[in-house]
Amino acid sequence: MHYGTTVVDAVAQRERGLLADYALHSVDSAGRKHPEPTHPYRGPFQRDRDRIVHSTAYRRLSGKTQVFTRELGDFHRTRLTHTHEVASVSRTLARALRLNEDLVEALALMHDLGHPPFGHAGEDVLDECLAGAGGFSHNRQALRIVELIEQRYPEFPGLNLSLEVLAGQQSRAEKSRAKEKPLLEVQVVDAADSVAYDTHDVDDAVQLRLLTLADLDEVPLWREASARVRKRYANLEAGDFKRCVLHELIDWQISDLIECAERRIAEKGIQSVEAVRQNEPIIRPNDELFGKKAELEKFLYERVYRNPSVVASRRIAQDQLRAMFQGYLRRPELMPAGFLKRAETDGVPRSVCDYLAGMTDRYCQTEFQRLFAM
Ligand code: MG
Repeated sequence: MHYGTTVVDAVAQRERGLLADYALHSVDSAGRKHPEPTHPYRGPFQRDRDRIVHSTAYRRLSGKTQVFTRELGDFHRTRLTHTHEVASVSRTLARALRLNEDLVEALALMHDLGHPPFGHAGEDVLDECLAGAGGFSHNRQALRIVELIEQRYPEFPGLNLSLEVLAGQQSRAEKSRAKEKPLLEVQVVDAADSVAYDTHDVDDAVQLRLLTLADLDEVPLWREASARVRKRYANLEAGDFKRCVLHELIDWQISDLIECAERRIAEKGIQSVEAVRQNEPIIRPNDELFGKKAELEKFLYERVYRNPSVVASRRIAQDQLRAMFQGYLRRPELMPAGFLKRAETDGVPRSVCDYLAGMTDRYCQTEFQRLFAM
């Protein structure tokens, strides 16, 4: 058993053996806003990961829409299963590139914590409700949750996560404005997010019969992956074929990210976190694959995200959310005490949005029926 500084030494020694020089080593963490004693047997980013997993906001991801609402079926991804896929891809990339897996996992598990019910449709409504009061973005909301809204410790509000985890999420929130590049651990999670949704949205859309495999032949990325699968297997039935192409798509994207990152790291002679910060982004696909992914995303946008049945379920949810915002604005006393209290400092509109954003799809619909349905 390690105690006090011994665990710091043990983590440092383990990471020196496993991590590259350009990875963020736990011993170099800038710490937490509210200083805390070291844990007897967990490193700092391992603790961050655990705090996120035990948070209320994290549990509620299971009841939140990724793209498709629950009325459409029970096969497709929720915000939570999407998060797990992102964490899984992120860890694969992190291990291959010898990055800090604990930090990567914490970042991946928190990356979508700020999503309101009904995915981007819900986000658009809340942003419109807060127009003129700073707006609403799920990336910024994740920071509000872990710094303010979660109440789990008597000593401080929020989860008191390591500053590197907060900075990583901050860089998601203000992508284009940052002068310095984020840590590779942060870049990995961004890339993994894209690998996950580009692949699983195709899977879900086919399962929901919004797309057929023949439709997908219009998409060069799918066509190329299909050709590779056909070369490997002669006669697959449609379900097996689809799953094989999806595996191929994930492997292709991940292998490309690893190869490109290793090449860029070698070419630029990157050997420190400082060099990572001063360089071009390292974790991104090669230009050709990037272009193919963009074509797939355009196709999904036109054929899936704007599909009439998806749009219709989205519109009902948006109308409900808008009515709830107005309803709680008129009667803030309907909110739990903590949100009512925060309204005193942050204003009623912001606090109403915090409350609404925390709801699962189902709770949101139940509360709408209970309180505001005419
Ligand atoms: Mg995501």
